[in-house]
Amino acid sequence: MHSCPICGYPKLQESPRSISGGGSYEICPSCSFQFGVDDDDKGCTFIQWRKAWVANGMKWSSKGQREPKDWDAVKQLATVVKKKTPAKKRSKK
Ligand SMILES: [Zn+2]
Repeated sequence: MHSCPICGYPKLQESPRSISGGGSYEICPSCSFQFGVDDDDKGCTFIQWRKAWVANGMKWSSKGQREPKDWDAVKQLATVVKKKTPAKKRSKK
C-alpha cells in the first residue's frame, strides 16, 4: 500500500511514482488526482490540487469505490501536511 502525497489516502495500489519517475496513472479515490496525468500532463502541483480539494470540502471523490467506513479526511490529510503550521495570528493583507 502507498499513500497519496496530496491527501494522505493510505491505500493506493501503486506508488504514485515509479523509480524511473513515471506516474502510476492510478486515480486517488479520495482526492481524484491521477498521477502522471494531472501533474505531468496538466501541470497541476500537489499543493494546488490539495488546496482545491480542501476548498471543496475534502469529499470522497471516487464513484466506483466506496468511502471506507472509518475514513477521516482530516486525519489522513494530517499525515501529509503535519509539518508546517504557519502562525495564523498575523494575517497579511
Ligand atoms: Zn489523494
